[in-house]
This record gives sequence, structure tokens and C-alpha cells, in this order.
Amino acid sequence: MGPLIRCINCDQVFHRTSFDQLPKYESSPAPPGSRRIVDTDDYRDFLESHRGHRLEDLRIIEDSFVSERPYVEPVKVSYFKATNGKDRFVIKKFRKHIDEPLTYHLIYGDFALKCIKVEAQTEEIKRQIRSELGPGGLSDKEADAFARLCQGLATKADVKNLARVPEESPHPLEIYFRMDDVSHAYLLRNCRRIFSGDEFRAIEAFVDRHRDDGVLRLKATYEIQLTEMARSKKKSYSVHESIKQKAVGRKE
Ligand SMILES: [Zn+2]
Repeated sequence: MGPLIRCINCDQVFHRTSFDQLPKYESSPAPPGSRRIVDTDDYRDFLESHRGHRLEDLRIIEDSFVSERPYVEPVKVSYFKATNGKDRFVIKKFRKHIDEPLTYHLIYGDFALKCIKVEAQTEEIKRQIRSELGPGGLSDKEADAFARLCQGLATKADVKNLARVPEESPHPLEIYFRMDDVSHAYLLRNCRRIFSGDEFRAIEAFVDRHRDDGVLRLKATYEIQLTEMARSKKKSYSVHESIKQKAVGRKE
């Protein structure tokens, strides 16, 4: 069977990781010299506890992995999509403690990423503009005014019209976009109201330097919206909300 197996009777999934996919070879009595592949105990346990049940392979849908925590974080919840060729499922993958093995839950439904805000990297912009234009170049007040202009255009920007910056973000739900031409023109037009002469030219050059891959990239934050189908009932919620609800529930 493939790496992801579903028991149709129990709706449980088992994922054979690259670790337990590495076969362990064991001498086999007959024929002489042949070896038998022995899978790890977890896989055998799964097959044992679902003996006589209907099992099927699920195909993992490529590039569907999402998580609320940074990629490097070992203890986190992530989701990915899988299909048996007919139905689509969401697989929730998590561990509660770093020493625990990963657990996989099968969810009937789907998820999508929804953009919840677009913002300018205001602190980075202020730091960068002060370091590049020097202490004599811009006052803190002017640097603040410039960062506010950037934030203003970020809140008006629509991610649908922005081009994604190809480089990887360390956080799966934070994606960087290049400022579009309309926002760029709007920014320079407004800069003219605050700055003039050499100062304006320095700002204009700063914008050119940082527009594509620098601090002027716009940061979009997404949330995972999970749509769960349970016995013809369809409920839709953001993963973030459901976590909050659970946290509130626990306190009560
Ligand atoms: Zn079963």
C-alpha cells in the first residue's frame, strides 16, 4: 500500500513516514539467502487493529500543506489534502509534544487560505531608511510619515492584483508581495507632498531600491478556513477561530 492509508470502516488514517518506509531486512528461512521486508511495528499494529476492514490508498494532493506555525517549528498542527480518486479529505497532522509521534486525523471537507490583512513592514522601513539616508538625511518624524504612507497603501491593496515575491517566507501563512504600479505611483505622489528637492530624490531612489525585494514588499497574512462536512451538515470556520473557541471552552 502507499504512504497514506485510510481504513474505510473506521475512518482512520495511517501515514507511513520516510522513516518507517525504510525497510528493515530480516533473514527468512526459505528459500535460503532470501530476505523478507519487515515494516516497523506501528504499521503492523495499524494493519492488525484494522484486520478484516476495507483499506484504501489516499493520494496526497501536492503543494496542499499548510500550517499555522513556522516551518521549523516541530510541535504544530498542519493540514494537507488527500483523495481516494473520488472523495477529497483534509488530513490534520499534529503532535502535542516533541517526543510524541505524529498523529493523523481524517476530516471530511476542504480548506482554503483567506487573506485577512495586508500590511507594510513599517518598523523595517523606518530602520532601513534611517540607516541608508543617515542621521542628517531624514528626521524620525519624516521616517514615520513615510512608513505611514506605505501602511496606508498596503491597507488599500488587494492581493489579487499583486505579484507574489518568489522567495520563501519562513512562516507558511505570511506571504510577501511586490508593490503594484498603482500603489507605487500613489506612494511617490504622496511623498512629493512631504519631501522636496534632494530629499524627495533620495526617497524616490530608496523606493526603487526596495520595491522588488526589500523592505517595501507588502506582507499578507492568511488564515486557514476549514470546511468540514459531517453527515450532510456543512460547517465552515477558520482554524484560528476554532482554536480560540476551544481555548475559551476549556476555561469555563
Ligand atoms: Zn478499521
